[in-house]
Order: sequence, then C-alpha cells, then structure tokens
Amino acid sequence: MVVNLISDTVTKPSQGMLDAMLSAEVGDDVFKEDPSVNGLEEEVARLFGKEAALFFPSGTMTNQTAIKIHTQPGQQLICDHYSHIYHYEGGGVSFNSGVSCRLIAGDRGRISAELIEDAINPPDFYHSPTTRLVSLENTTNKGGGAVYDFSEIKKIKTLCDQHQLALHLDGARLWNALEVTQETPEDYGAVFDTLSLCFSKGLGCPVGSVLLGSQKAIDHALRIRKVLGGGMRQAGFLAAAATYALHHHRADLAEDHKKAKELSAALEASKFVQSVAPVETNIVIFSLMPDQSETEFIQKLKAKGILFISLGKGKLRMVTHRDYTDSQHDYVLTTLTKLN
Ligand SMILES: *Cc1c(COP(=O)(O)O)cnc(C)c1O
Repeated sequence: MVVNLISDTVTKPSQGMLDAMLSAEVGDDVFKEDPSVNGLEEEVARLFGKEAALFFPSGTMTNQTAIKIHTQPGQQLICDHYSHIYHYEGGGVSFNSGVSCRLIAGDRGRISAELIEDAINPPDFYHSPTTRLVSLENTTNKGGGAVYDFSEIKKIKTLCDQHQLALHLDGARLWNALEVTQETPEDYGAVFDTLSLCFSKGLGCPVGSVLLGSQKAIDHALRIRKVLGGGMRQAGFLAAAATYALHHHRADLAEDHKKAKELSAALEASKFVQSVAPVETNIVIFSLMPDQSETEFIQKLKAKGILFISLGKGKLRMVTHRDYTDSQHDYVLTTLTKLN
C-alpha cells in the first residue's frame, strides 16, 4: 500500500469529475467564449457576492495578479512571515510587481490588526516605502492549516480602510476554513477587495484557481493574466472540474479534517514524537524527540509505504485529502501505533 500524505494536491479527479470534464461545453476562453469558464466565474462571483471573477491556471498566478492590481513598483505590502506569497511564489512579488514585503511574525501564519498597525509606514515619511496592501492567508499553509478568527479579519478591514490599504486574501484553502467556521463565502467577499481561491487543493481538481474582485479589478486582472501568459483556450474542460468540485466535493472536506485530528492523536501517542501543532483543518505539523533523526523517521515510514515531507527546521508535515481513503487511514494509524 502506498499512502501519499505529502500534500492535498496529489489527488486525481474522481470519476464524476472526469465525466463532467469530458462532457463540458467549451469555447475559446481567450475570446471569453467558453461557456463552462464563464459559468464557473459567474457562479463563484455570485457565491462570494463579488462583481466578477477570473479563472486562472494556478493560485500563484491569482495571488501575483492581485498584488500587481493593488500596487505600484517601490511600494510595500504587509504579510505574515510564513506567507505563501513570500516563500513559495519564486520571488514574484518583487519580480512581477517591484514590491517589497514587510514580514510580521504572527501566530501560525495569522497576523493581527495590532501587529499590522505597527508595520504601516507613515505616509508622510518619504524615506520608507509606501504601504499599500495587506495580504492574509486562510487557512495558513506553512502555519499548519490554522484558521483566522473572523472578528480579527473585520478589525483588519477597519484598519485597512482607515489607512487606505487594499486587503487581499490568499484563500487557496479558504474552503477548508469555511468548513470549520460559521462564516459564509459572502462574509469573506464583503471584507476583502480581492480573493484568490484554489480548486486543486482539498477540492481535488487537477488544475484551477479563481480570482474574485470588483468588475474594475477583474478587468485589470484580465490584462495582467495576459502579460503573465495565463490565457487558456478550451479551458472549460478544467472549469467543469472546478464547478463539479464546488457542487460535489466541498462537503467531503469535513472527512479530511476528522482524519487529520485522528492522525494528530496517533502522533501525540508515539514515543518518537515530541509535539504536534494544533490541528484545525487538514494539515498536521509535528516535531520529533531531540534524539530522533528526521531523515530516518521519514525513511522508516516510507519503507512502510507512508509518504510525507519535512518543512525544515524540525517540522514534519502530513496533509489529508480526498484520495486518502478510510482503509489507508486505518493502516497509517495502526502503523504509527506499532512503530518501534
Ligand atoms: C497552494 C497554495 C497557493 C497556490 O499554489 P499553486 O500551486 O500555484 O496553485 C497559494 N497559497 C497557498 C497558501 C497555497 O497553499
């Protein structure tokens, strides 16, 4: 048995999704004539109460486009020091937008209005870059799937309004956050100027991300997507997968979260494990006892068919997803219990 817990991006399309893709009605989306893409964009925009949406190949591209929309070269954005936009987008913030990141050491990837306020450069002090944008991540990736308290997000929105800062959400895993909180997509749409959502994480699509915003922002995004080379032709085959996931896969996220909590408990009980970070969604981050070698531990489980990764600096990570079956889960729990 091979059990892949490396990421929630390792999933393959379900049979229902494949059927939906094969029967998709398509057109040339570069001419905005693909009915499946147009349908997805309209549906997601409506769901979040935003004016418009645009389909992209990746979440990196939606984030990079959003940053470009909100900023001018030389300006600064504020984000947590674990942010995906800072760590995992190839330096695109500076390459594509000429913008610097003011990093905040938050709580497992989450930053507070109070910390953000301290990081805003005074607008009349011409020596420092102009602060222009705040970018939040929910759930946090490197922060281990942590979920924001929505009341903090509302405080951040008020602060951004006071200082005329734009507010962007890297919501690659917002679907996971929505599964565990009381808020609705509309609540999020009302607070953020732009939102980036992924369909290729927990929702199990092969490809796909959507950027949401005002009509003006999305008109601008279309131009930037062109510059970044992200126009796709019969993209409806991919959009159909996203629409299918929206209707049929969202509810299954609860199962991923339950399994992640059970993994966490099994790891806590293991003599090899020193600590497990709190598990809120589908990401489990843990560290080994000081006398244990990470490489050996990873190899030992790999030999039993269980794959996961190290994030460096003493952090190991397992991610649950829709292709992690009940029998695989039983096998992993038993293997962890028996490990010696
Ligand atoms: C996965 C992810 C993205 C986007 O990644 P792509 O692989 O480019 O789709 C953005 N932000 C976070 C937090 C992510 O986990």
